[in-house]
Amino acid sequence: MNPDFLVIGAGVAGLRAAIELAEAGTVLVVAKDSLRESSSEYAQGGIAVALSDDDEVALHEQDTMRAGDGLCNLAAVRTLVEEGPAAIQELIEWGAEFDRDGNRLAFTREGAHSRNRVLHAHGDSTGREIARALYHKAASLAHVTFRSFAAITELLVSEGVYGAVLDEPIHARAVLLATGGLGRLYLHTTNPEVATGDGVAMGYHAGAEISDIEFVQFHPTALALEGAPNFLLSEALRGEGALLKNASGERFTEELAPRDVVARAIVNEMRRTGAPHVLLDLSHRGEQFVRERFPRIFETCLRYGINLGREGAPVAPAAHYAMGGVRTDLDGRTTLPGLFAAGEVACTGVHGANRLASNSLLEGVVFGKRAGRAMREAGFRPAVGSAVASRTLPPPDAAIPRLMWEHCGIVRAAEGLQKACEEFESLHATVPLLIARCALARRESRGAHFRADYPIKSDQYARHSIIRKDACVTFA
Ligand SMILES: Cc1cc2nc3c(=O)[nH]c(=O)nc-3n(C[C@H](O)[C@H](O)[C@H](O)COP(=O)(O)OP(=O)(O)OC[C@H]3O[C@@H](n4cnc5c(N)ncnc54)[C@H](O)[C@@H]3O)c2cc1C
Repeated sequence: MNPDFLVIGAGVAGLRAAIELAEAGTVLVVAKDSLRESSSEYAQGGIAVALSDDDEVALHEQDTMRAGDGLCNLAAVRTLVEEGPAAIQELIEWGAEFDRDGNRLAFTREGAHSRNRVLHAHGDSTGREIARALYHKAASLAHVTFRSFAAITELLVSEGVYGAVLDEPIHARAVLLATGGLGRLYLHTTNPEVATGDGVAMGYHAGAEISDIEFVQFHPTALALEGAPNFLLSEALRGEGALLKNASGERFTEELAPRDVVARAIVNEMRRTGAPHVLLDLSHRGEQFVRERFPRIFETCLRYGINLGREGAPVAPAAHYAMGGVRTDLDGRTTLPGLFAAGEVACTGVHGANRLASNSLLEGVVFGKRAGRAMREAGFRPAVGSAVASRTLPPPDAAIPRLMWEHCGIVRAAEGLQKACEEFESLHATVPLLIARCALARRESRGAHFRADYPIKSDQYARHSIIRKDACVTFA
């Protein structure tokens, strides 16, 4: 059966959009492999919102703009921070339980926030709690159905997008890409296996514009233990006083500086000392505090032999979040009729060159809702007989993650990026190639994009990169 609306992705953005769409028609939500596997499920630290007594929407806006390093779209930021409080209220009404001090919501501080404004749930399972509440709400609506599928790789395209290929072609009035991030393209990442940038590849091959894709945030503190996954040690640990130290126990950076600054400081310290990691140490807060405040992180580290209440954990940076993606307006409209995008796969410009911690769950719910509302109005139907399917994903190649880490990672330079472009072209690796091309074209350092050969920020590049199938990189 063809649904009215097809939502590709069941993280916070896709689920929030589905709820908004259910009043207007039938909705099919598709996830890759499993309905529970998404970055949303792993988001620990929290969701930022200007709701505490000493906070203001204008301050949240200011902090977001500052983190974005001159590249945020002010209208998108304003939308995020102004619509944030109501979005949280809605989540609470739908059953999301955020941690409280007595009756009042409990707020914590994260890097580059000027106020305590990060809500959390079950200590460090915030994304899972929000996704649970959204899923519960969406599943209660008569018109919403769910399906997991190997991976959607093809959109149905004529002069716009009107469906996708699952086992067979599925037609819809509008299609939402809510496929999340792309961290899995990198050797070291905090992201789950589903985060391979599929939505960017699908959008690109269908003909949509991709923007700011060179901006990839590297989280400074992922577990760096032989044989263990790069499990994220949330920024909230540093918010609660965790210190970064080298093997001699010396601090070497300001722990709550923006993520790119901390990530580069760690890389420099690792290079200087020759150590494969640095230490993140919260042991001075005592075992009881760490266990109660960060139960999931505490238990996970313990499983790998680290007692965070008594010792520091070995950490190193890992690819974490894509600021860029499929270019959209504030209502999730891409540059193609019928195709919408929301959440991490989209680029509204809300994060600019660097995301402020805990803004992305909020982005998912605020812009997921807006995209859902706009899709209700969509009635794209292709001209008969003009259909083509855009194939997108190349077979996975083991060389890609290492090439991405070495050449499109925390510190980049022309020579490596050029080499990466050539390799990715021959491997038909769409998203890696887009990142390498745009990173090569941006001859400056800004936010999360650091060029060793152009270490200074340049006014000439205070613009968004845009790339599409039939055109080279431009800046607008
Ligand atoms: C470890 C970790 C910790 C984080 N902590 C925080 C935090 O504390 N606060 C915060 O704000 N943000 C955090 N983030 C970022 C945040 O979790 C994500 O940006 C956000 O959840 C993305 O939501 P989404 O709905 O866009 O995508 P996701 O939640 O990633 O969902 C993507 C969905 O798309 C599906 N999908 C992907 N490809 C395909 C395909 N080809 N076919 C069909 N389905 C597909 C997946 O199966 C999944 O259902 C964290 C991220 C990670 C990885």
